[in-house]
Amino acid sequence: MTNLLRCRTVEPVTGTVPAPALSPAAPADASIQSVGDVVAAHVRPLVQHIDKDGLYPEAALRGLGAAGAFAHHVGETGRGLPGAIADMAEVGATCLSTAFCMWCQDALVWYLDCTPNRELAARALSDAASGRRLGGTGLSNPMKSFSGIEPLALKGERVDGGWRVTGRLPWVSNLGPDHLFGSIFATTGGRKVMALFDCGAAGVTLTQNAHFIALEGTRTYSVLIRDVFVRDANVLAEDATTFVPGIRQGFVLLQLGMAIGAARGAAAAMDADASGRAQATWLPLSPTAIRDRASDLQERAARATSTCHDPSRAAFLDVLRLRLDASWLALEASQTLSLQFGARGYLAGCDADRRRREAQFVAIVTPSIKHITKELAAE
Ligand SMILES: Cc1cc2nc3c(=O)[nH]c(=O)nc-3n(C[C@H](O)[C@H](O)[C@H](O)COP(=O)(O)OP(=O)(O)OC[C@H]3O[C@@H](n4cnc5c(N)ncnc54)[C@H](O)[C@@H]3O)c2cc1C
Repeated sequence: MTNLLRCRTVEPVTGTVPAPALSPAAPADASIQSVGDVVAAHVRPLVQHIDKDGLYPEAALRGLGAAGAFAHHVGETGRGLPGAIADMAEVGATCLSTAFCMWCQDALVWYLDCTPNRELAARALSDAASGRRLGGTGLSNPMKSFSGIEPLALKGERVDGGWRVTGRLPWVSNLGPDHLFGSIFATTGGRKVMALFDCGAAGVTLTQNAHFIALEGTRTYSVLIRDVFVRDANVLAEDATTFVPGIRQGFVLLQLGMAIGAARGAAAAMDADASGRAQATWLPLSPTAIRDRASDLQERAARATSTCHDPSRAAFLDVLRLRLDASWLALEASQTLSLQFGARGYLAGCDADRRRREAQFVAIVTPSIKHITKELAAE
C-alpha cells in the first residue's frame, strides 16, 4: 500500500449528484457465483499476498457482494444476521483479512438498514448491500466512549443544512477514495450524532501510518476529518445515544463470523496435517472440539438475533459474553494449531503463524477482550 493516500475530493453521495464511477459488482467470470466460488477464485490463491504484501482483496469483496454475502441482514430486522455470520465464517476459515473487510461492509449495511433516515437508506443501502459501494465503520472510538473508556474523537458544529465535523479516527478499515463509513460525533450542544462519511469529501484525509503484524490487506487508515461538511441528508441518527443500543448487538454478533471462521480454519489446518495430528492427540483441544464449540457459538448467535434490537444493557451483556467466548475460541484454536505444528509452525511465513496473528486481531478489535471484561466486571 502507499504510505500516504490523500483522498480525491468529490461530492458526498446525494440524491441529485451522480454517484462516483463504481467497479463492477461481479467478477467478470460468470462461473463465480457462490461464496465458495469467490474463496476458491479470489481468496485462497491470494492469501499470502494479502497477508505479506497488504493486497486489498477488492475482487473478492465485489464478488461476495454479487453473491449476496452482504445482503442477508437487509430488511429482516436482524433475522438475516446468521446468514451474514455463516458467509463471513466461510471466508474467515481461509483468510481473516478478507473476513474482517466483510465485517466492515456488513456493519455499514447494518447501519443503513437500521437508520430511521429512510431517504438515506433508499439512496445508499442497495449499493452497499450488493458490494457496488464499499466501506466500513469508525465505531471503535464511539463504542469505547459509550463504555466510558475514552472521549468521542469527532466534534461537530451546527451549520446551515448540516454539520461541520473535525477530529481523527486512529484506524478505520475497508476504506478507499470512494468508500463510505459510519461514525459518531459529539455536538457542541452535548448530543451525539451518527452520520455517514464519504472518503471523497473535502477535508477527509486517509493516511497509512502503521505497519500491522496482520490484517495488512484490510486498507486500514488513520482518518483525519478537518472541517468536513456532513449534510443532514447523510445523518444516520440524530440521537446516537438512543440509536446505538438498538444496533450494537448486531454490530457485535456479526463479528462472530470472524471468530468462527478463524477457529474452523485452524481446525481444518490441523486435520490436513495428518502426521502432525497423530503426534498431537493429547493436546487439550482437538479439531473436533474446536468445531463443536464453533457450532455452539453459531447456534447461540442465531438465537440471539431474535432479540438483537433489544436496547437493554442485560441483552447487550449476553451478546458480549458470546463475543468473549468466540474470542477465546479463536485464540485457543490458533494456539493449538501452533502447538501441533511445533517448529514447523515457528518458521517465518508459515500458515500457522499467519493464523495465530490473525486470531489475535479478533481478540483486540473493539469490543476487545479487555473492553468486554471491563463491561462484565461493571455488571
Ligand atoms: C488492523 C486494525 C484495524 C482496525 N480497524 C478498525 C475499524 O475499521 N474501525 C474502527 O473503528 N476501529 C478499528 N480499529 C481499532 C480497534 O477496533 C481498537 O479500537 C484498537 O485496536 C484499540 O483498541 P484497544 O482496546 O487496544 O484500546 P487502546 O487504544 O489500547 O485504548 C484506548 C484508550 O482507552 C484506554 N482503555 C482501553 N481499554 C480500557 C479499559 N478496559 N479500561 C480502562 N481504560 C481502557 C487506554 O488506556 C487508552 O487511553 C482497528 C485496529 C487495528 C489494529
